[in-house]
Amino acid sequence: MLKNDPLEQWDRENFFHPSTHLAMHARGESPTRIISGAKGVHITDRDGNRFLDAFAGLYCVNVGYGRTEIADAIAAQAQELAYYHSYVGHGTEASITLSKMILDRAPNHMSKVYFGLSGSDANETNIKLIWYYNNILGRPEKKKIISRWRGYHGSGLMTGSLTGLELFHKKFDLPLAQVIHTDAPYYFRREDQSMTEEQFSAHCAERLEAQILREGADTIAAFIGEPVLGTGGIVPPPAGYWAAIQAVLDKYDILLVADEVVTGFGRLGTMFGSEHYGMKPDLITIAKGLTSAYAPLSGSIVSDKMWKVLEQGTDENGPIGHGWTYSAHPICAAAGVANLKLIDDLDLVTNAGRMGAYLNGAMQDALSGHAHLGEVRGEGLLCAVELVKDQDSKQGFDAADKICPQIAAAMLDQGVIARAMPQGDIIGFAPPFCITEAEVDQVVAVMKNAISQVLG
Ligand code: PMP
Repeated sequence: MLKNDPLEQWDRENFFHPSTHLAMHARGESPTRIISGAKGVHITDRDGNRFLDAFAGLYCVNVGYGRTEIADAIAAQAQELAYYHSYVGHGTEASITLSKMILDRAPNHMSKVYFGLSGSDANETNIKLIWYYNNILGRPEKKKIISRWRGYHGSGLMTGSLTGLELFHKKFDLPLAQVIHTDAPYYFRREDQSMTEEQFSAHCAERLEAQILREGADTIAAFIGEPVLGTGGIVPPPAGYWAAIQAVLDKYDILLVADEVVTGFGRLGTMFGSEHYGMKPDLITIAKGLTSAYAPLSGSIVSDKMWKVLEQGTDENGPIGHGWTYSAHPICAAAGVANLKLIDDLDLVTNAGRMGAYLNGAMQDALSGHAHLGEVRGEGLLCAVELVKDQDSKQGFDAADKICPQIAAAMLDQGVIARAMPQGDIIGFAPPFCITEAEVDQVVAVMKNAISQVLG
């Protein structure tokens, strides 16, 4: 910390940090890290330390830091028109252009985009649209939402409920009653080790169907899932999973929400994860990669099928009673337009696919043979290393040992940021799409080193 720098003290006295151990932070027992600059895949702190950010912030700075094209677009928009709302048919050049660019990239059966500011509020919008839809169709009982254990869909009341991680429920009186959780497609930790991936996918679908029948299909409105489970451990679906799930949903007239907050706009090497896995969602949630986090912006992309019904609802009831002051904020929309252009101009989706394959392959090669490796898994530019105390039983470490936080800290000391995922012994990687092979080599070497330091 800089000499006589008051910022750290102000931070501990005034700043209520999200997802932080409040008491330890206030007491000065956990680090305050003040980030002051960034370029490409690197961030720097106020002490002048430079780190390779192999998690792209919170897997959101997809085009990398310091892009003047986006910064200039934001500045130009702020000078020209800093704000106007989008209620009662108002729009701006940036917001209208961005909606067209999103729909041009989304699967063909999608029809409109509703803008929000965060992944959480976009998922709140999705659930309200689903309820509105079923009310218009005269199915007021069809309201429950199924999400998966280990799914992450936000931190609001409904979205925190959908999130299938205990930390987000405990002491908050969540989940809400309308939410039901089903199995995570976590092949590595399947109960029956003899199952193939396809058999395990069929097993997840059968269990989902049994759950739907137990609850009553006419009470289940929708299923929400990330194409690849993210915060819950970076878990790509086993072979055949989405086709098997989609068949059950279609059979019982249950809507599918693809939460593409992480996978949208290229992280899997395809524009959308839905495309990657052949999913046919009724709603797609987008956020992070839409602006590469240069400004807060999210969206709910609505299918033709849902749009036709929503329109009928407003014919009967007047304007839709759902709006945010900052929906389609022009500064954020201008950032989105510049970001999507940059992704095209630099062909970053292709690069994400190529570098993702390189990262996953190099990590596998470097760590295979380590006595505590559970597995290396990933898809596109998402990669996870799961560690185990014992390879035969796959037993994990005691949470109190904090193995992954220790590994992440050892990596930080060597200049690389990776993420100790919130549940399980899992280290996650999700670098910006512009990462190079040499930078991936550095990440992998530092990971290998840090594991040896902590686990031998
Ligand atoms: N959905 C997914 C899949 C996410 O990963 C996240 C954030 N990590 C969210 C929703 C919530 O987004 P936000 O934090 O912007 O509310």
